[in-house]
Amino acid sequence: MTSGTPAPVRKRARSRDAPSKRHKIEEVPQGLPPATRALNAKYHSRDDRFWFADGNIVLEAQGMLFKVHSSVLALHSDVLKGLLHARPLPAGAGHFPKNAGHSLVVTGDNGDALARLLETMYLGGQSDWFRWKMGHRAPLDFAEFRLVTLLAVKYNVKHVLDEATERLEAYYPSDTLWHWRAVKLAGEDASGRRFPKHLRIRQSDSIAVVQLADQLGLPHLRPAALYECCRARDQEALLRGVAYGGETVRLSEDDVLLCLAAHQRLVQENTRILHALLDGFPNGAQPAACATRGACRAAVARLAHRAVEQNIVARADPLDGWYDLVAGSTAKGYDDKVCARCQVALVRIVDERARAVWDKLGEIFHVYPWPLVMVDDGSDDEGADVYDDDSDDSQAL
Ligand SMILES: [Zn+2]
Repeated sequence: MTSGTPAPVRKRARSRDAPSKRHKIEEVPQGLPPATRALNAKYHSRDDRFWFADGNIVLEAQGMLFKVHSSVLALHSDVLKGLLHARPLPAGAGHFPKNAGHSLVVTGDNGDALARLLETMYLGGQSDWFRWKMGHRAPLDFAEFRLVTLLAVKYNVKHVLDEATERLEAYYPSDTLWHWRAVKLAGEDASGRRFPKHLRIRQSDSIAVVQLADQLGLPHLRPAALYECCRARDQEALLRGVAYGGETVRLSEDDVLLCLAAHQRLVQENTRILHALLDGFPNGAQPAACATRGACRAAVARLAHRAVEQNIVARADPLDGWYDLVAGSTAKGYDDKVCARCQVALVRIVDERARAVWDKLGEIFHVYPWPLVMVDDGSDDEGADVYDDDSDDSQAL
């Protein structure tokens, strides 16, 4: 993945109170040609890690400078390869008196994101993007992940795009509800930030995931991401968007309308689940083997009442809103406890309804085909289990 043998990074004295990896470069004197002055109008800083003595091209990204190798850039990106014929450094540019003649590319990119992208090119498997920890990829912070992915789209850096796709698909599955719930169950902390393997991501980041899905040409990510947008308690956030640094990412107007309509439908689905519990349970869903039929029915009625009290029927979360409640039906302290057999039946009712909603997400969010059917090529037994439609979802609880 890495190519060439980069020369040792140039070492320069650092001031004690500024232990940064980057060095400010003094401002350029007046009297330079306009193009040079425009470039030099602000302070620049060099990135120590990517300032190679034998580099032959300087990239500028919002004030940060990288002196790198055109051969490495060309290896990873046809787009960058095309930029390498950019204008040579203007004569008299005070920044690089010793490097006159090197190509300079003013990118307009976010400097930190470009540093990360270069890291993937130069460090390959040593880069956080590809590093594995305990058998899993080291998690990346979503805000940075997003910037680097957008840059990789701009420059068409395939290995980064592949990695971004894989990480996003791990969080926003498009095959089975089982898979989707397995991601959910991996845990969230109090701030809603999820822990597991690939990304540190919040529910509100789903707005930006919709944008990434569009940029990456991955429409199958949209249903799960838009569902997250719809089920958010704060629907105003759909309009406000989500802020990353100085940038605010919003859904497109079409997607906002789509979400508002979907919100209504998902709320209706929650009401249907309530009815399925209230009507379906006494009318056939209650196991014949239940030894305490009357008590269990009464408990289910109280459970449904609790759902109304908790305002579940006003929420738009039919895929995941009911499991805790149903699982809690055997929790201590509740008087809506049912027997073990009935509880399996309750979970099954919730599960069947949730699966039906999952299958409708494509229609709700206008993504076809949906869900994506995974073809088992026989090479991975574990995968065959994961995508077995009849796997017992209740085991996931
Ligand atoms: Zn029972």
